[in-house]
Parts: sequence; C-alpha cells; structure tokens
Amino acid sequence: MTWDTEVDVAVVGGGACGVMTALRAARDPGRVVAVFEKSAREGCNAAISSGSLAAGGTRFQEAAGIDDSPQRHADDILRASGDEEWRPVVEALCAAAPRVVEWIADTGYPIELGTDMPRAGMTALRLHTDTGRLGGARLMRHLRGLLEARDNAAFVDEAPAVGLMSDGGKVTGVVIAQNGSMQRVRAGAVVLATDGFAADQNLVERHLPHLGTPYYGGVSTSTGDALAWAERLGAQVRNMGAGLRSGLVVVDHGTRVSPALPFNGAVLVNADGERFVDEESKGYSSMAGVLQRQPGERAAMIWDAAAMAATRESEMMRESLAAGAVRDCATLDDLAACLGRTAAETERALTPLPGRRRLTAPYHLAWVTHGLLATQGGLVIDPSGRVLNGAGEPIPGLFAGGGAACGLAGPHSDGYLSGNGLLSAFGMGWIIGGGRGLSPAPARSGRRG
Ligand SMILES: Cc1cc2nc3c(=O)[nH]c(=O)nc-3n(C[C@H](O)[C@H](O)[C@H](O)COP(=O)(O)OP(=O)(O)OC[C@H]3O[C@@H](n4cnc5c(N)ncnc54)[C@H](O)[C@@H]3O)c2cc1C
Repeated sequence: MTWDTEVDVAVVGGGACGVMTALRAARDPGRVVAVFEKSAREGCNAAISSGSLAAGGTRFQEAAGIDDSPQRHADDILRASGDEEWRPVVEALCAAAPRVVEWIADTGYPIELGTDMPRAGMTALRLHTDTGRLGGARLMRHLRGLLEARDNAAFVDEAPAVGLMSDGGKVTGVVIAQNGSMQRVRAGAVVLATDGFAADQNLVERHLPHLGTPYYGGVSTSTGDALAWAERLGAQVRNMGAGLRSGLVVVDHGTRVSPALPFNGAVLVNADGERFVDEESKGYSSMAGVLQRQPGERAAMIWDAAAMAATRESEMMRESLAAGAVRDCATLDDLAACLGRTAAETERALTPLPGRRRLTAPYHLAWVTHGLLATQGGLVIDPSGRVLNGAGEPIPGLFAGGGAACGLAGPHSDGYLSGNGLLSAFGMGWIIGGGRGLSPAPARSGRRG
C-alpha cells in the first residue's frame, strides 16, 4: 500500500465534534493530528447554530444557585427520548458536558448561564451561551483559532474525505480529495465528525418521509458521507427517522424566533383563529410536528412588549427583527387584521391558559412553520465513541461523534431536547480526543511510499 502522508489521528469534518476531538487529541505533543474539512466556506451546523451548550452541574449554575447534575441532565434527556438503550452514551456525554463548558470558558471564551433560556423538558436551567449572544459562529472561530495555534495539528480546508481505507477489518486511513487529486492518508485512528444527512434530499425522503416538505435550515455540507463508508465496513445505524426539527421558523424568511417566547406568555394561533396547543409543553422539535398538522402548516406566534424585552437579545430574535420578519400590531384590531379574524375571535384566542399571564397591546406577530435543522439518526457507537459493527464489537481504528453518530432524541424527533446537538458533538469530541483509543501510529517512518 502506498500512502501519501501519515498522521496519528485523522479527523473527518471540522465542525463542533471534529475541532473538539482535534484540540483534545493534540494535547499530546507527540501526536500528529489533522482535521480534513470539506469546506469551511460552506460551513458547519455548529457555526450557524445558536451556540447553546447544555450541561448539568457547572460552576456557572452553582454561582446562580441552580441545583443540577450530569445525572439529572441525562435523566431529562432520556425521559424525553424514551431511548433507555442509549443510556450509557447519554450518561457519558452528560458527565463530560460540565467539563467541556468550563474548559471552553477557561480558554478565554465568554460564557454565561442562560438564566433567560428555559426550555421544555429541562428540569433545571442548563443552557450556557456566550455573553454577547452571538451564536455558534463566534464559538467556532474561537475553537478553530485554538487549533491553529497548535504545532502538532493541522486544519486542512477544502479537503473532503471521499472514503475510508481498511485492512482486514481495521480502518487504516482515509482518502482525501485535494487540489484535484486523491491523497491516501494513513492514520492510527479515523474520527468521523461529518454531521448527519439532512442536506441530502434522497436520504431525508428515505428515512424521514413523515416530515413532508419542511424548510431546511442547516448547512449544505450535511450529506451523510460517512454513513455509507462505515456501513460498508459493517457499521450499524439507528434512529434514522429522528431529526432536530424546529417549529419556530418564520414563514418566508427562514429565520427563527426564540424558544423562550412561550415561557414569556407568547401564544400560537392557527390560520382558523384557534389555539391548538399548550405552548410551554413542547420543545421546538416536537412543536414542528404540531405545526405541520395545522391548516397551511403554519401558525401565528403572538407576543407582547414584555415578552419581547425578555427575548430580543437572543441571536434568533435579532436576526428575525433585522430581516423584518416580525409584524407590530398596536391594537387588538390591528392584530385581528393581521390574523384575518374578528376582534372578538382574536380576543378569545388570546385567552391565557390557567396560571399564565394575559398578553397586552401592543402585540408582535410572526407566522411560523416547521423546519428540519439536522438529522439525529446515525452510527451506533459505544460510550467511548468507537463505531460498532452488527455484533456490537468496535471496528478497530474507527470513531464517530456528533451528527455522524446516533443522537440523543431517540427514535422520533419529538424526543429532541434543546442543546442535545452540540452536547453530542462537543461531548463526544471531548471523549474521543481524550481517550486511550487514540494511541500514536505504530510507525511514522516515510511520509511517502
Ligand atoms: C440553525 C441551527 C441551530 C442550532 N442550534 C443549536 C444549539 O443552539 N445548541 C445545540 O446543541 N445544537 C444546535 N444545533 C445543532 C448543532 O449545530 C449540531 O448538532 C452540531 O453542529 C453537530 O456537530 P457536528 O460536529 O456533528 O457537525 P457540524 O458542526 O455540522 O460539522 C460537520 C463538519 O463536517 C464537514 N464535512 C461533512 N462531510 C465531510 C467530508 N466528506 N469530508 C470532510 N468534511 C466533511 C462539514 O463541512 C462540517 O464542517 C443547531 C443546528 C442548526 C442547523
């Protein structure tokens, strides 16, 4: 076998999981780590995400007097997903999560606890975010900057992986397309961090036909490349019908409104002028399915000045406001006109559920629909991130994390809890990069030949 180059750890995909894996693996100065990224210009989901990091038991929570723990976090996730079989992976991720968040903060990134970020299904406030609420782009810039500062790690952009190399069932390297030619990279370990397949319409139609025709809110690079390579080596996949959906996508704009709005009194009214759901009871992924069943697959999210003040600093609200996606209605009559209903019907629709407050004029309104942000099905891994075959045995040399691996939502999108996506990605990157499975390659002799 002729190799073009050799590294100890080849990471495929330079998003959340890939960069975290590389940062951790490169702490060993004797290890050579390369991240092969399809296209940083096209981007990763982590960079367009809100950057909300779920973690239970952090020092930020302790300072805010919030009682939480990794176990409670794991139990919340599993209550939502019902996927007990996945408990060992969930618990491993939740155990890593506080260390991930505190480590990111210790590298100089400005993190705070989102005390204004309650979410359905979370029994404690545990979303952490950057102090400026600038979203995931800022976080990914910071982490990639840390990686660039390492002598023993390289971030190779515009270098998509196109396949795996294996010998006798062991993964020995990866094939990279670069500058018009194929490079065979020998590696002691290959980490698949390519995210899911939500950008591949054929795969989405095959595995998630029940979603209908959702707005797609993820990046174009999520084409599920790694799944096929790993499956050819006997890897298993699970929960392929689950996705990270959003019921907060603004019609005709594609921006999203804040998931905290319902917790600040916002109501959803459908095109028939009817309330149809307890707005606080559903996470945004689960709410997507509810919206899909409404007339025109949409509903009006209505809120007032108090709810606006509590949410407008989120990156989602800033984007929606900047896009002109929010309508202002000074009076009940104006709101009724926006809804195409009478004032009496509108008044009735605004009747608060027991224990909730009544909205007061002036009002704000955005028509929201359902979207798909990312898939949650993927490769079966063990709690160390090793990819497993049909017999439940690790495929030597092969790891996966983030959206390339099976996620935490369980078999259905309704089981997705806010923060699960980056938890899977950063958490498994932390575990894989820090794990014993990544020993240096046996012989780093000739770089070519
Ligand atoms: C709009 C939006 C908002 C979100 N907000 C949140 C949030 O606030 N909190 C949260 O927890 N989750 C959130 N998520 C989900 C979260 O972003 C993802 O779950 C997470 O980014 C997955 O991490 P990853 O490393 O697996 O994939 P990514 O971060 O998407 O990175 C994958 C990388 O792999 C590269 N790649 C793909 N194929 C190849 C190939 N063949 N060769 C080389 N490179 C390849 C891609 O170009 C990409 O850079 C959000 C998602 C979206 C779309």
